[in-house]
Amino acid sequence: MAKLNEATFDSLNPVNSEVVGTFPIHSAEDVYAAVTLASDAAARWADLGHNRRRKILLAYSRLILSEIDSLAEKVTLETGKPHSDAKLEITLSAHHIAWAARNAEHVLRTAHRSPGALMANMSATVQRVPLGVVGVIGPWNYPVFTPMGSIAYALAAGNTVVFKPSEYTPGVGVALAELFEHVAGSSEYFQVVTGFAETGAALCASGVRKLAFTGSTATAKKVAAICAQTLTPIIAECGGKDPVIVARDADIARAADATVWSAFSNAGQTCIGAERVYVDENIADVFTEKVIALAKTIHPGNPETAQYGPATMPSQLKIIKSHISDAIEKGGIPVVGGTQSVGDRFVEPVILLQVPEDSTAVTEETFGPTLVINRVPDMETAIQLSNASRYGLGASVWSRRQGRWIASQLQCGMVSINSVISFAAVASVPFGGNKDSGYGRIHGPEGLLEFTYPRSVVRAKFQLPLPITSFRRTSKVDSLVVKILSVLRGRLS
Ligand code: NAD
Repeated sequence: MAKLNEATFDSLNPVNSEVVGTFPIHSAEDVYAAVTLASDAAARWADLGHNRRRKILLAYSRLILSEIDSLAEKVTLETGKPHSDAKLEITLSAHHIAWAARNAEHVLRTAHRSPGALMANMSATVQRVPLGVVGVIGPWNYPVFTPMGSIAYALAAGNTVVFKPSEYTPGVGVALAELFEHVAGSSEYFQVVTGFAETGAALCASGVRKLAFTGSTATAKKVAAICAQTLTPIIAECGGKDPVIVARDADIARAADATVWSAFSNAGQTCIGAERVYVDENIADVFTEKVIALAKTIHPGNPETAQYGPATMPSQLKIIKSHISDAIEKGGIPVVGGTQSVGDRFVEPVILLQVPEDSTAVTEETFGPTLVINRVPDMETAIQLSNASRYGLGASVWSRRQGRWIASQLQCGMVSINSVISFAAVASVPFGGNKDSGYGRIHGPEGLLEFTYPRSVVRAKFQLPLPITSFRRTSKVDSLVVKILSVLRGRLS
């Protein structure tokens, strides 16, 4: 995206603070110009139809996979995550792009509805109409996967997109748009604007028809406030404090292994990562021993060799440390690491036991490689404590027999039974949360429907002898309609 003024910012490698790239700080005027361009292109993109868009998006998915090494390198440089983690993220994103491409036509086809007995002379249909331009604001922790959940689904539904990536990962955002231009033959359908909060705020105020935001709950509230001025609807994909519930009949070894990965991979910077565990007291010792043993084999460091990298955002280090010290001050027991585990860039794994439920390590999103393990007398207590959170994003449940029942009791948007995080990789199910974790959905049919609006079209197949919608209606017609309605009562749909 061209820029009207000269201000720039540097994207830094969080491993060593080296400059990875320099990008424009797009002003409000720049953002409005991008949205105008996208708005002009929206009709052309919509007019291509499902078939042509499907081909372009499938080609995009293939191109992303063939360019996976260079794209993963960009992700690693800007986030500090291991190359193989970056590749996994990109592979899953390509899978979502292909799913959205293949399913948009079917999901968004015109639906036929019953007009009801009173209006039996009408045919009734609901069309799904693209919104126009969709604004997407993304975070840095999964800089391909997370925004692509909005971008690919919005494009597949017939919208153009203006994307503001995180200021920590602008290079990844620009690369995603360049790859799309390559397959679409135009840079106008999917544009990127770079910068900080002000650039994001300008996108919210720009007149986009919907704003798909992923980031912290605090920022989502600011985004919603700006969007309220123009009645711009938003999707808010925000933070979480996801629980792992381990029942007495769980496969303990698998539960421990998956919990450790969920909590510590990507340096704990996963919105749907494990942050707290509620484990049945009958198996708590065995489970905890296994988790501790595994955690001691895991270390952060250079993305080429270590299991996870640095805290991508240096300001998070203070928050991680404060959650650990608050937990310990309130009586929590550090069994792996402690406040000393928080370094200048890297954080070693931290495991805390018996942490009071009012500690910030339990109530707030830590977004670091820390894990609270609290034992519970029964699953009812595990459910009650899981639901006591102000967040409601995802959850993981481990049980051979009670998984579905426990899942049905949880106040959150997504649950994995006997696995962790797997709902994110199943393209056919919606992704999103409730409470402070946000609202609206990406992924799956719901994620396509989010980027359209319903247009009801009813058509008179023949004229009724009773003139209802006419000034010719008489009191005789009125009483006849009442009579017909009472006869049909119960049969009206
Ligand atoms: P953040 O809220 O700091 O920033 C997110 C984006 O919003 C960035 O692009 C930023 O520049 C922009 N922004 C900041 N202030 C703005 C403003 N006033 N107006 C408009 N835009 C503004 O979040 P982050 O640190 O980038 O990401 C981490 C957070 O994202 C965590 O809370 C994590 O849980 C959450 N997250 C959620 C999901 C999900 O799907 N639910 C996925 C990934 C990350």
